[in-house]
Amino acid sequence: MRRLCILLCALACAFGLLLWCEGDAAPQATPEPSAGPTYPPALSPDRVSVQVVSTQDEPVQPAAAPSAPEPVWLNVWNEGSIERVELEEYLIHVVAGEMPASYEPQALRAQAVAARSYIAWKLPAYGGSGCSRGGDVCTDSEHCMAYQSDEALRGRWGGHYDAYYEKIRAAVQDTRGQVMVWNGEPIQALFHSSSGGMTEDAQAVWGTAFPYLTSVRSEGEGDEQRTVRLSAKELAQKLNAAFGGAGLTADNVEAQFLVRSRTKSGRADTVKVGRVTATGKSVRAALDLSSASFSVDWQDGEAVITTVGYGHGVGMSQVGANAMARQGSDYRDILTHYYTGAALATLSDLGE
Ligand SMILES: [Zn+2]
Repeated sequence: MRRLCILLCALACAFGLLLWCEGDAAPQATPEPSAGPTYPPALSPDRVSVQVVSTQDEPVQPAAAPSAPEPVWLNVWNEGSIERVELEEYLIHVVAGEMPASYEPQALRAQAVAARSYIAWKLPAYGGSGCSRGGDVCTDSEHCMAYQSDEALRGRWGGHYDAYYEKIRAAVQDTRGQVMVWNGEPIQALFHSSSGGMTEDAQAVWGTAFPYLTSVRSEGEGDEQRTVRLSAKELAQKLNAAFGGAGLTADNVEAQFLVRSRTKSGRADTVKVGRVTATGKSVRAALDLSSASFSVDWQDGEAVITTVGYGHGVGMSQVGANAMARQGSDYRDILTHYYTGAALATLSDLGE
């Protein structure tokens, strides 16, 4: 399974798995009062600390205050150098980079848990292989997950900085240490901007099945349609450039560019591109479409390509998560809806 995970990760990286989300806003959270990370010198950077559970013969100490979980440290690859960063602090900047801060607090909490799960899935402490560039995780949104520095957030949020930072910090803090697990291990909690109403099965995108990354309904997203118009000549050129041997021309592309089959979620699966049979995913990349859920109409010799949703469609839909939150769902409802069969756990409960 781990090999499959690595394979999927590599494929995912190649196709820009984790989408940069449009929009902005992110708020913040302040760290738990007692959690002020002390920098334990003996803690190896890529190991996750485990809470010690008292044994039966130890006397119970009713008056003892619960100790805060040990901080988890990450080795973060950032433009060629490795930095050591505390997980919960890092997550504030990841959530800020991945989801608009204007979203509902419960959606931001769901995003915090999804991002924490994904990072934990990469950690060697849980059998992960880290980032292929080095370290546990990198700051490239096209490779691991988006990360926005404080400076970038100040520039992006302007006068909203304080409120947004606090909102996101709270989403991270309120879910501190929480991850989604399947079979006792952190899940590869993929997410995307919007699904268009139905998420995609990981197998349909990358050829590898994950029990918790199956297709589910995503209600309340609204009609997020985008339209791309291309002349017959432009379309033929773009497709010929991406698919050698397609043999398309301005004259034949209308008859030779056809969606042949769709996945259960409605995304293009196989597409006739002249003499080539392509995947919907590769056509999406070739034409720079928002998603593989597209249809093609012709108007006055021009191709009108309409897409719904934004991103690969696998895992949690951020727009759908926000819609659920608006309808009163909390982050646990959101996560268990989008990650079928996965359960919420805390890092300190997971063994190394
Ligand atoms: Zn990476």
